[in-house]
Amino acid sequence: MPDTELDDLLTRVRACTLCRDHLPPGVRPVLQMDARAHILIVGQAPGARANASGVPFDDASGERLRDWLGVERGVFHDARRIAILPMGFCYPGRAGGADLPPRPECARTWRAPLLARLQHVQLTVLLGRHALAHACGQRAPSVTDTVRDWRAHHPAVMPLPHPSPRNNRWLARNPWFEHDLLPALRARVAEVLGNGRG
Ligand code: SF4
Repeated sequence: MPDTELDDLLTRVRACTLCRDHLPPGVRPVLQMDARAHILIVGQAPGARANASGVPFDDASGERLRDWLGVERGVFHDARRIAILPMGFCYPGRAGGADLPPRPECARTWRAPLLARLQHVQLTVLLGRHALAHACGQRAPSVTDTVRDWRAHHPAVMPLPHPSPRNNRWLARNPWFEHDLLPALRARVAEVLGNGRG
């Protein structure tokens, strides 16, 4: 059955220009959503390549994230299975050699109504400090401490570092992430996607 309320909402999101004065690269919301999704990925904001293509995680971070999840590109970009809602939907540009943080107006405006349409999510994947801080509020511990404590959130939520190549050093310093967390994450993703078929 068509979800006209969600369609209307997504039309408004894709036409949004709320913080265009703070977006040097211009306005281009990049997100992936269908009310049937069973997995929700909460990232930071699209990077330059995703902004150019309009496809979420269309870059090296996406390659790594798909490996972490154990899914092929076709599954990853199937909105009926996986919703991708970053904390900011538009590419904020760069400063000091890094991408700028997501615009705060975006989550304030769009997160609650969009999340209200996702009634079938069984696993929420939080990527990096902006998504973790939003989920944990003022008392958010460090990314490392939160990710190291992943079992406290399992199986409904999985906190992860951002899959950016900028975090290669973090990954090398924390081998437990690959040995302990990733096998549990892949098993949970397979379980949820299996549950979500049909
Ligand atoms: S970042 Fe979000 S709030 Fe800002 S213009 Fe893009 S869609 Fe609108």
